Amino acid sequence: MVDGQGRAIDYIRISVTDRCNLRCVYCMPEDGTEPVSHEEILRYQEIERLAGIFAKLGVRKIKITGGEPLVRKGIENLVKNLKKISGIEQVTITTNGILLGEKLKVLKEAGLDGINLSLDTLNPEIYRQITRREGLEKTLDGIKNTLEDGQIPLKINCVPMGVPGQNVEELAKLSQRYPVHVRYIEMMPIGLGKNYQSVKEDQILEKLEAVYGKAKGYEGKLGNGPGHYYEFPGFAGKIGFISAISHKFCEECNRVRLTSQGFLKTCLQYETGVDLRKLLREGAEDSSLEQVIQKGILCKPKCHHFLQDGDEKTEHRIMSQIGG
Ligand code: SAM
Ligand code: SF4
Repeated sequence: MVDGQGRAIDYIRISVTDRCNLRCVYCMPEDGTEPVSHEEILRYQEIERLAGIFAKLGVRKIKITGGEPLVRKGIENLVKNLKKISGIEQVTITTNGILLGEKLKVLKEAGLDGINLSLDTLNPEIYRQITRREGLEKTLDGIKNTLEDGQIPLKINCVPMGVPGQNVEELAKLSQRYPVHVRYIEMMPIGLGKNYQSVKEDQILEKLEAVYGKAKGYEGKLGNGPGHYYEFPGFAGKIGFISAISHKFCEECNRVRLTSQGFLKTCLQYETGVDLRKLLREGAEDSSLEQVIQKGILCKPKCHHFLQDGDEKTEHRIMSQIGG
């Protein structure tokens, strides 16, 4: 379907949990979030029903997110069932990778189409500082298994923080050696991200070119989102940037979000949206859910205003509650 600005909406990010086995400093507080009871989280059946309605309205691609989606039991069954929905062409997941080694086989059997793996550094000490947990080795094993298996396309996402020792250039070596796209995501001032400065794309590109040589802009399209890509000499994969601040991409925004509690969010920055869980649990028919979703999407904000403060509709959830 098309929103009020004429943008076609064909992509949804569905969060399946607020819980996580890491505590990335820009995403989640040290002591976690207020525990949300199981009852408040959408059941898989509810997610599948809503996904069917979104598919009817033109959504073609689903990204499963969290919190950490792989900590939710039976996630592979959700993948399998989402894949069966008529109209859905792609089901992918975003994960911190800690449980990927364990889950790879069942996710592959379920038909998962892609994995975005979030990894901000290869430096064990800085990894510990950023995530406040252990996990680098397991994550690297998950990457290794996925690459060796070679069946599910993998992208690595890194949020540069400007921390000494993060050494974001080193991550690009993965793209040099393997057919993996490493992407740098600008820190967004949402939730705890407000406490950090975003490192701009141009700065990262300069660092990368100093190590790997002159990059060439890649004209083709990769993936479903707002990333743009560069080719470096001799690299097996491409280097991407998702720069919501320095290269605003709202005009091409194709997505909506469903939180784990069933709230339809139409823009990352604003907390406006529709409480679909309430309607679902009050026994709403598909046709009325369809109507409210359509109405919600029609009101999708034109663009974010991350750099301006004080809008009363600004999102108060933290990123682990939204799903990124
Ligand atoms: N736990 C999974 C993971 O880390 O991939 C899925 C959820 S996490 C919220 C999704 C993505 O959001 C991660 O790549 C994370 O780095 C990113 N993220 C979290 N807070 C952010 C912020 N303030 N600005 C930019 N990206 C952020
Ligand atoms: Fe967990 Fe992902 Fe947030 Fe890190 S970014 S705390 S892994 S939800």
